[in-house]
Amino acid sequence: MRFLSNVPIAIRLAGAFSAVLALLGAVILLGLNQIDRIGESSRQLASTSLQNVILVHNAQGAAQAGASLLHSLFLLDREKRIPVYARIDQNARIRDTAISELLVSSDATKFRPTLMRVVKARDAFVVAFNQTVDEVEMESGVARWLMLSKTMPALQTMLDDLDELVQLQSQYANEMIQGIQTQQSAGRQRILLLGLASLLVACVSAFAITRSISRPLAQTAKLARDVAAGNFDGEIPKAGRDEMGVLIRALDEMRGGIAARERRIVELAYHDVLTGLPNRTLFSDRLQQAVKAAVRGNHAVSVIVMDLDRFKQVNDVLGHPVGDELLGKVADRLRSVVLRDSDTVARIGGDEFAVLLPTQTGAEAIIVAKRLLAALEEPISLQGQLVDVSASFGLASFPEHGHEAAELMSRADIAMYVAKQAGSGYVLFESNQERSSEHGLTLLSDLRHALENNEFLLNFQPKMRLGSGVCNSAEVLIRWKHPTRGLIPPDQFIPFAEQTGFIKSITRWVLENACKQAAAWHAQGLPLAINVNISTRDLVSHDLPSFVAEILQQTGFPTELLCLEITESAIMDDPVHALASLTRLNAMGVKLSIDDFGTGYSSLAYLKKLPVQELKIDRSFVMNLDADAGDEVIVRSTIELAHNMGLNVVAEGVENARVLQQLTELGCNEAQGYFFSRPLPAQEFSAWLKAVPSFLAQPAHADT
Ligand code: C2E
Ligand code: CA
Ligand code: CA
Repeated sequence: MRFLSNVPIAIRLAGAFSAVLALLGAVILLGLNQIDRIGESSRQLASTSLQNVILVHNAQGAAQAGASLLHSLFLLDREKRIPVYARIDQNARIRDTAISELLVSSDATKFRPTLMRVVKARDAFVVAFNQTVDEVEMESGVARWLMLSKTMPALQTMLDDLDELVQLQSQYANEMIQGIQTQQSAGRQRILLLGLASLLVACVSAFAITRSISRPLAQTAKLARDVAAGNFDGEIPKAGRDEMGVLIRALDEMRGGIAARERRIVELAYHDVLTGLPNRTLFSDRLQQAVKAAVRGNHAVSVIVMDLDRFKQVNDVLGHPVGDELLGKVADRLRSVVLRDSDTVARIGGDEFAVLLPTQTGAEAIIVAKRLLAALEEPISLQGQLVDVSASFGLASFPEHGHEAAELMSRADIAMYVAKQAGSGYVLFESNQERSSEHGLTLLSDLRHALENNEFLLNFQPKMRLGSGVCNSAEVLIRWKHPTRGLIPPDQFIPFAEQTGFIKSITRWVLENACKQAAAWHAQGLPLAINVNISTRDLVSHDLPSFVAEILQQTGFPTELLCLEITESAIMDDPVHALASLTRLNAMGVKLSIDDFGTGYSSLAYLKKLPVQELKIDRSFVMNLDADAGDEVIVRSTIELAHNMGLNVVAEGVENARVLQQLTELGCNEAQGYFFSRPLPAQEFSAWLKAVPSFLAQPAHADT
């Protein structure tokens, strides 16, 4: 039945239908023909046999009537006999007509001998009859004798012959009826056979066609289900040249397309597009597997975390395309050192790389780290310029430094941070590093404690509207009130928190508490908008938008009053994920602001693509605006361009009235700086807000 799959389904169906229809047509034709033949035979039966029987009866009747009329002649007078002769003649005519009609009837030949006897008997009868009539007319005594001895026997002979004819006729009619019956049953049989044959053909072709369609259809459905389940290697049903074959081949092409795209998606999800290296997700996954294998196999696992030194400067000075090129070349060098297939080199962040050595000890990892350092020693050529790169490496090993992947990563991070601070190239993690760093700054565990012990607090710095001089928003800035060290400014712990990933916890804390505070003010009739600082790590994590939504819902703070500040470099570290987060936040109604504008890559063309509403000119351009003509050019053009893009412009670092005046003249929208107020704790801030309703109302405000 395989050959069927090469015949188009349409032709298969048409063929089967035609065959069944043809057979059905034959049955109908045969039936009609049979009916016609039976009809014809019946007509023949009726027209000849029955007709003949009637004729014979007529002849018999007429002959008998003639005989009885002859009898009556003996009893009547001469005058009365005249009308009887007329009737005798009439009867004779009827009899003779019947006999002559019998003689010319179609099947006369069959009965000819009997017919001839009848004719002979009739002639004899007629002769005897006429003689008798003559004798009656002569009124002779012989008449009666003639009648009894000649006429009556002649009549009897004729009647007997006619009877025989009737018998022959009915025998013939019976034969004909029998013939019809045989014909009918033979026809019935033929129709039945033909009907059964067409039924069989219909059944067989229905079965064959159904099977030829349903089988590959079921296999094709299975193929589709396999594809849906992500199994792309399942067996392909044999495809013929029919429509099913076309469908199967199309499905197979689709499967190929999906498989290729899935490979690409997996590739994209687990690889860094820029360098082609595995990304953080894939690295974490492999590290987890490696730790599990190490527990089972009772061997070591080491991780090396690497951060490029001064990468930000390269990016800022030479531009992002050069920065990208640098990362690509660094990746190549790392790959040239880590040769084992089982080892993994990954790019886990902006300028952060990591190496997984799934069976090596800390001592072995140090050898690899040294080789990595050496590989980076030679300057890298970037667009014709030779650039010196250096990097800091942090190492941690299972089981000495942690039993879980995350723990190993954070300890390698700490070791890397220590290496960076010390400028020592590489450092293998030691437990005391977690307690104190080279700078005496308490590290991760201290930060954790700070969060647990509520050592963080929030300051608020007003943002003033230059047109009206009112303050309706403030920037939220974090402070760390260390139990022994006193107030620690954010510059001293935020970079470390960013490097270790702890920043995410800090951001959550800041967001939550800032929204709580602002919501409380809102309830008191103080509708203040707030700006909260967000860093790279926050931006690339997928859960930031949902976390923000959660906080807004919990605190009831109006979404449109929350603005998140992001630096350009934070966006450029991972533009794809950053744009995704920003777009989602913007769609929620959260405002977005570009912080420290002017210090980074400063591509207004790129900013155009971002869903931001505000731009903050970095304080380094604003602080000396009144004295530095170059700064004025930068600030003026920034304001103009930002306005062209429909952005709200905020100048940071306004420290005196002259700068304020200049900014007002340049059309800047908002200003922030010590001239208005230093960042203040919540209570002091609200007191300040109530005491100082408008700055423009007090133009003679002294410089700070
Ligand atoms: P920033 O976002 O540029 O914040 C503005 C900084 O400028 C603040 O420093 C503020 O005190 C200071 N400033 C304000 N007005 C003036 C002025 O007139 N003159 C001068 N010279 N400085 C002024 P702060 O509070 O030390 O914060 C430093 C940086 O730490 C911030 O820079 C921000 O990048 C980061 N930061 C602060 N709080 C947070 C936070 O909650 N989360 C994150 N991720 N980063 C934060
Ligand atoms: Ca800021
Ligand atoms: Ca800033």
